[in-house]
Amino acid sequence: MNPRSLTLLAIAVFLVATGTPAASPAPVKLWRLDCGAIQEDDLNLFSDTYAYLGKSKQLTAACYLIKHGETYMLWDTGLSIEALGKPLQGAGATGESLSKSLPDQLQTLGVDPKQIAIIGISHYHYDHTGQAALFPQARLLMGKGDIDALRTPGSARAKPLTHWLNGAGKLEEVTGDKDVFGDRSVVMLDLPGHTPGHHGLLVKLAKQGYVLLSGDVAHFEENYATNGVPIFNSDRAQSLASLDRFKNLAKNLRATVVIQHEQADIGKLPAFPAGAE
Ligand SMILES: [Zn+2]
Repeated sequence: MNPRSLTLLAIAVFLVATGTPAASPAPVKLWRLDCGAIQEDDLNLFSDTYAYLGKSKQLTAACYLIKHGETYMLWDTGLSIEALGKPLQGAGATGESLSKSLPDQLQTLGVDPKQIAIIGISHYHYDHTGQAALFPQARLLMGKGDIDALRTPGSARAKPLTHWLNGAGKLEEVTGDKDVFGDRSVVMLDLPGHTPGHHGLLVKLAKQGYVLLSGDVAHFEENYATNGVPIFNSDRAQSLASLDRFKNLAKNLRATVVIQHEQADIGKLPAFPAGAE
């Protein structure tokens, strides 16, 4: 054995003997939080090919709490607390109802709202930004395409996020994918088309495996299955490309697909206050 090989052997023996451990990944836990109910009286708004003429549907609004090590992150912030206790249908209904605020649900889990360090928001629609302002200390992660649109003078959608848009809150404008914790356990996925900066979220759990949170890449199961494109999406071609990417990710990772507005998908994660690991 030549001297160089001996040196390498010695290093190898040393490493085995000292057993330098690989850094173990931070544990990740995921909870679904209820962020409201939405009555869609004209479901055809969700199809630019007139697939739902004369149909209506009740959608759910979901938010998610992620615990990575000791750090808490919220994904989407649901309907505004102005919808608390409102009837969903009938007299006085606005088509939106919220039964419990995010801070109330966090307290059930023993989490102080001040502990939320990060908010990721899939896109700028009101049913995803509604309660963000209740967490002013959090760093906001959101697609740059959406932030640019919100900065357009007179944008009515900007109001729930004013704190971050005016520079008071910490804001990170996301381009492409964003590996939130740097270990690939929680990744914001670039899925434009519904809005210019729309993102979904990939969460890797030790027991359940990969979970894909849809954002609004689709709003309900039938529309997802048939690649339906809502008439109010910002870009049809991007919408289809994003659906294609999302479905291939789901297949390759054998992921649990959760369409955030689909009532039937609520049961794919443990019922609150239980969480997935
Ligand atoms: Zn939307």
